[in-house]
Amino acid sequence: MIDTHAHLHSRAYDADRDDVLTKCWDAGLRYILEINIDRQGWTRTKALAESDPRVFATVGVHPMDVGDATLEDLDRLEPELSHPRVLAVGETGIDYYRDYSPYDKQRDFFRHHVGWARQTGKPLVIHSRCRKDGPSSHDDVLRILEEEGKGEVRGVLHCFSGDVDVARRGVALGMKLGMGGAISYGRKKNRKWIAEIAEAVGPDAFVLETDCPYLTPHPHQQERNDPSYVPQIAEYLATYLEMTTDEVSERTDQAAEELFGFERTQR
Ligand SMILES: [Zn+2]
Repeated sequence: MIDTHAHLHSRAYDADRDDVLTKCWDAGLRYILEINIDRQGWTRTKALAESDPRVFATVGVHPMDVGDATLEDLDRLEPELSHPRVLAVGETGIDYYRDYSPYDKQRDFFRHHVGWARQTGKPLVIHSRCRKDGPSSHDDVLRILEEEGKGEVRGVLHCFSGDVDVARRGVALGMKLGMGGAISYGRKKNRKWIAEIAEAVGPDAFVLETDCPYLTPHPHQQERNDPSYVPQIAEYLATYLEMTTDEVSERTDQAAEELFGFERTQR
């Protein structure tokens, strides 16, 4: 199994990072994609990816962290895209759920990241979160992908939270749908939602992720998350898709490999 979205460079693991990694490999994880969120954290992200051949990294600035940054700051990260352990661009995207960063600035930064993906051929790791009665981040993400990268970029809509229509449009634009611990919150509702999405876009559109240290699957919501929970997320997804956990693990590994190329990079 592969965790396509981890933040193990977070300070939350400073006391026991090596033990956490050992636990992940023992749980059957094959690869972990470590997601960068700001310029300050890049050194730690990179160190982690350089420390273990099973850990890879992304480069980007998270939409909730663009507030203090400038596009010049972002450009200072650009050379890191050619680091041999970097497989993707992100975390980028749009967050209308919290008012951490001005919306127009988030959209500018997102466009810039899509440009990086177009130039390097690396996939995008996209965060998109709406507020119930606010504008739709999904609409804006899909519109910008259409305007800036249609047919030229690929990626993942991480912690996917859209409806069937968003899934369909996303997959048509080369996106996979990231499934994490949140699918274990409200199982009845999620079963219906995921079954409908799979029906619309096929069962090979999903990749597994944790978004650790956040979003630990039920019943461990109060605890710190880590990639060793991926097998449990696979189990939830398997129940919803009426598949075995092995089948889900095989299909999601394949989807993640196709998108990010962990094996290809290893060789
Ligand atoms: Zn994240």
